[in-house]
Amino acid sequence: MRGWDQKYFRKALLCACCAALSLAAQPAPAQPGGVMPAPVLKPGEGLALALEGGDIQTFGEGRAVSPMGGLAKLVWLRVEGSGWSTGSVKFRCQGTTGSLACGIPPGHGTVSLAKALEEDCDLAFLAWIAEARTRWVKDYGPEVAWYRVGEVFEPFLGRRLLANATLPVFATPWVGDGDLLRTSPEGFLRWLLQPENAEVSAFGRRTLAGFWVEVSALFGKENWWFKTATASVPGVPGATSAWVAGGRGSTLVVFHLPRGKGKPEALARLREILGLKS
Ligand SMILES: [Zn+2]
Repeated sequence: MRGWDQKYFRKALLCACCAALSLAAQPAPAQPGGVMPAPVLKPGEGLALALEGGDIQTFGEGRAVSPMGGLAKLVWLRVEGSGWSTGSVKFRCQGTTGSLACGIPPGHGTVSLAKALEEDCDLAFLAWIAEARTRWVKDYGPEVAWYRVGEVFEPFLGRRLLANATLPVFATPWVGDGDLLRTSPEGFLRWLLQPENAEVSAFGRRTLAGFWVEVSALFGKENWWFKTATASVPGVPGATSAWVAGGRGSTLVVFHLPRGKGKPEALARLREILGLKS
């Protein structure tokens, strides 16, 4: 809790949440004197918050690094999202391609970019990334293409990125499988806050806020956007942890739940922590 200013939290977060709170039957519980309590996390949970574009505050396991899972799709938005968005890309997910399985059969159906993000459709992203890769190789050659992608992913690859590596075929580890790509709530929030990555949260605000059926059901008409994702747990085959990245206006938040948690649980828990009660 070091560095946490409760008055600042109250002012900034209540401001950010005011629309939701005004719709709520019961406002978030206030401490004596009207000060909203600082977030209280359960063991293993990690939270990073930047209120109205201010300093990053971390709570619980907010600095713990683990596989980033489907959050990687937001990093691909930084690489190629404006082209995909402008081109209104579509993909027909039938659930399997070769040995790859995606979601529950018969797949996600026809997905747009926003729907592929919402439903975490790996096959759509892999198809769009493969198309983009072919185009980059033709337009710039593999070295420049790899420099361009590697530069964006470097914070999540760490030393696993070899300086002389050649342009890889971007398979499932690049959209959320395994532990190739890793981050912490603080690390991903710091990345989202960098000016050159502003288009990622702008895309979230523009396209995802109020779009997701799941989110609309939980939050009514308020303007938070969220990207939920699952990630693998190193050394525990088949186990997952869960992520949520999102925001409202210039407030951004990244939340991680430990092993055994899923996407709906992560979103509901973050909503509870933020006081977005209905
Ligand atoms: Zn799919």
